[in-house]
Amino acid sequence: MALIEDQKYQPRILVIDDEKRIREGCFRILAKENCLVDMAESGETGLAMLAEKHYDIILTDLMMPGIGGMEVLAKVREQDPDSVSIVITGFATLEHSIEAMRKGAFDFIPKPFTPDQLRVVVSKAVKMTRTLQDIATEKTRLKTIVNYLEGGVLVTDMTKTIILYNPTLLRMLGYDGEPLDDQPLSALTTDETLTGMIDSILGLKVGEFKVLSAEILPRDSVEDLSDKRYLRAQSVPFQNRAGEILGSVTIIDDITHLKKLDEMKSAFVSMVAHEIRGPLSTVLSQIKILIDGLAGELGDKQADILGKISRKVGGLVELTNELLDLSRIEAGLIVQNKQQVQLMDILDSLVGFMQARAEEKNISLSLKKANLPPINADTKSMEEVFSNLITNAINYTPEGGKIKVTGRINKNFVDIAISDTGYGIAPDELPHVFERFYRVKNEKTRNIVGTGLGLPIVKTIVEAHNGTIKAESKEGVGSTFSVRLPIR
Ligand code: ADP
Repeated sequence: MALIEDQKYQPRILVIDDEKRIREGCFRILAKENCLVDMAESGETGLAMLAEKHYDIILTDLMMPGIGGMEVLAKVREQDPDSVSIVITGFATLEHSIEAMRKGAFDFIPKPFTPDQLRVVVSKAVKMTRTLQDIATEKTRLKTIVNYLEGGVLVTDMTKTIILYNPTLLRMLGYDGEPLDDQPLSALTTDETLTGMIDSILGLKVGEFKVLSAEILPRDSVEDLSDKRYLRAQSVPFQNRAGEILGSVTIIDDITHLKKLDEMKSAFVSMVAHEIRGPLSTVLSQIKILIDGLAGELGDKQADILGKISRKVGGLVELTNELLDLSRIEAGLIVQNKQQVQLMDILDSLVGFMQARAEEKNISLSLKKANLPPINADTKSMEEVFSNLITNAINYTPEGGKIKVTGRINKNFVDIAISDTGYGIAPDELPHVFERFYRVKNEKTRNIVGTGLGLPIVKTIVEAHNGTIKAESKEGVGSTFSVRLPIR
C-alpha cells in the first residue's frame, strides 16, 4: 500500500532527532515515499526551521540535549496548529504519553522501529493533514462567501457566543467596536427582538426546525428619521446528525428600499382616495336628491336605475373611506390615543346598533356578557375592529342564521370571539382573507358588496395593540374570528 494515496500530494516533513542514524533512516524511508523531508539535529535547529516554513508533519524525538520534544510540541501547537506532530520515543511511559498528547502530539513511534512501522504512523498522519487542510480550505471558502454576501450573517453557538459574522452585519447594526470572535452576543446587540429570536431558536427541541423572522431597527436609527433604516432578520438553528441544536444562524437584510416603496405607494393611494372621495360624495348626495323626488317626480324605471347607481357610488365612497383608514392606520396614527377601555361596553353598544341590520336578514345577533378588565386601547379603533367583524358576520351569513359574540379572560389576555353560522371560508382561501383586497368569490358571496380591505384594517389595528387575530372556518357551517388583546 502506498503511504500517500494522492501521488500529487507531497507532504513536507521535518525530522528532529539528535541521533543521526534515526534522522537519516527516516529520511531514506520517507523520501522514497514521495515526501519532502528536512532534518534537524536538535530542538533549537528544529524550531528555527519551523519558524522559516510550514511543515505538514513533524517527527520529533522527546529526549534531546537542550530543547526537548515537549517544548517543540508546545511551540508547534502555538505557531502552527495545522501541523501534525509525531513523537519518537525510546521509553513510551504512560506519563510521557499523556503529557505529549496534552501538548498536541498526534501519535507515537517507539524506538527502535521498522520501516513499515514508520510508514504506518506517517501514513495516518498524512491522512490527518489532508483532513486538516480540507477543513481549513472549507473555512476560508465559507469565510469568503460570508464576507461577500449582501446580507448580514451572524452565527452563534448554544451559549450565544459569536462564532461567525461578516462586515455587512456590523455595518447594518451600526457596530464599530472591537472584533467579535468568541464574544458574547450582548457585545454586538441588545436588541430585544433579535436576541429574543435567537433565544427561541436555541431553545428548540432535538430535531425541531423553525425559521423565525422579524423586523429590527439598527442602533441609533431613530434619531434621524430621514436616514431611518429597516432591517429584517431571519434566524434558523443548525444541528448535528442526531438533530441536536448546536447554534443559530441569523441572516439580516436591509429592507429600507422596500419600506420606502411601500410608503410611497400608500401615500399615492391615500392621495388618490382623498381626491376622489369629495366628488363622489357630492354625486351621491345629488342622486339622493333625485331619488327623494326633490327635483321632480321619477318614474319607477328611473328610480330603480338611480337606486342601483346610488348603491354602486356608495360602494366607491366606502372604498375611499377604507383606503384612507388603512393609510392612516399604517402611518401609525391609531396607537396614539390609547386609554383604559371597557371592551364589553363597546361590544354592547355595537351589538345594539347592529341589531336592526341583523333583523332585516332574520339573523339572531347576541352578546354573551362577561366581566372583563379594562384594556389599554384606542376606543375608535376598537369600534372599527368589532364593527367590521360583526358586519362581515352579518354579510356572510344567510337568512335565519345565528351570530354570537363572546368575551373572556385568558391569562394576561382578553379573547373576543365572533362566531357565525354563515357560508364559511374554504381552507385554501382562509389564509388569504387578511390580505389587502382579497375577497372570496363564489356563488353565494358574489353579490355581497365589499372592498376586501375590512380584515386587513382589523388585523393592522389589532397588531398595533400588540394583539393577534385568528380565523377558523368550515364551509357551509360557519366562521369564528377571534381577537386576543393584552390586558396590560
Ligand atoms: P370585504 O368584506 O369587504 O370583502 P374583508 O377584508 O372584510 O373584505 O373580508 C375579506 C373576505 O373574507 C370577504 O370577501 C369574505 O369572502 C371573507 N369573510 C370575511 N368574514 C367572513 C365571515 N364571517 N364568513 C365568511 N366569509 C368571510
